Amino acid sequence: MEIKKIMVIGAGQMGGGIAQVAAQSGLQVVLNDIDAAFIDKRVAFIDKTLSRNVEKGRITEEDKQAVLARLIPSTDLQDAADVDFVVEAAVENMELKEQIFRKLDEITRPGVILATNTSSLPITEIAAVTSRPESVIGMHFMNPVPVMTLVEIIRGIATSDEVYQTVESLAKAMGKTPVEVNDYPGFIANRLLMPMINEAIYCVYEGVASPEAVDQVMKLGLNHPMGPLVLADFIGLDTCLAIMEVLYEGFADSKYRPCPLLRKMVKAGWLGKKSGQGFYAY
Ligand code: NAD
Repeated sequence: MEIKKIMVIGAGQMGGGIAQVAAQSGLQVVLNDIDAAFIDKRVAFIDKTLSRNVEKGRITEEDKQAVLARLIPSTDLQDAADVDFVVEAAVENMELKEQIFRKLDEITRPGVILATNTSSLPITEIAAVTSRPESVIGMHFMNPVPVMTLVEIIRGIATSDEVYQTVESLAKAMGKTPVEVNDYPGFIANRLLMPMINEAIYCVYEGVASPEAVDQVMKLGLNHPMGPLVLADFIGLDTCLAIMEVLYEGFADSKYRPCPLLRKMVKAGWLGKKSGQGFYAY
């Protein structure tokens, strides 16, 4: 099936970024959310981002208008009835994703690929609520989507080769570099990143060093563009904890146990940049 029109579910930071790069690659994009105000806000943000690109001479005003014209707002999942592909980027909640995929399975035409941008939930489990597990796949973009080139493409246990190849081609058409990953907790990016962040938190918890010192070591000694604790603050400490729990439960291995200090900070409402307080004050 040729992919010309897609639906992106969730107009948050990830869904907005995916919608932008998809529209820039020439696709018609139905951008779906539960409230029209969220979509308006996201389209205004995309407009602003594209205007900056016009000012810098990267694109023309006509290019910008053409991209915006390819974005179609939607607050009704039934609008998925005539799309050729769906990528879901609603909030990270298994019950919600299962509910969305059950409905998409009924609404979309047979054979339409249903992808999810989940950062940690099992693709195989999401696929199992549909009658087309061979057409369900993970398409894990990185934040911010217009800037980061990687997409982890995650094969559920039943995902077909044909579906994998179609999504790989789609990612390339969107200017991204796809990497094939099988469906195990944390995929690759978070399986490596989150234990590193968790260990950095253990260093603070055990009094090995201050957050500033831990971040300095990783920046100056290992050339990381930012330290793990400032990165944790940007990602959100609640998100970091949720992903550590997925690894801990998914592998049933104590090496993934979340640091007690991470739990304590999340319980205190210290979620990082978004709450104003994490390892640093914002
Ligand atoms: P976000 O909170 O910015 O956006 C989520 C959006 O989904 C909101 O606008 C919300 O209104 C909408 N939504 C909620 N329920 C919905 C429904 N039933 N139908 C349609 N829309 C609905 O979250 P985000 O950071 O964009 O994350 C979205 C997904 O992407 C999550 O699964 C997350 O794990 C994943 N992800 C996030 C990052 C990241 O760095 N933030 C990176 C990779 C993947």
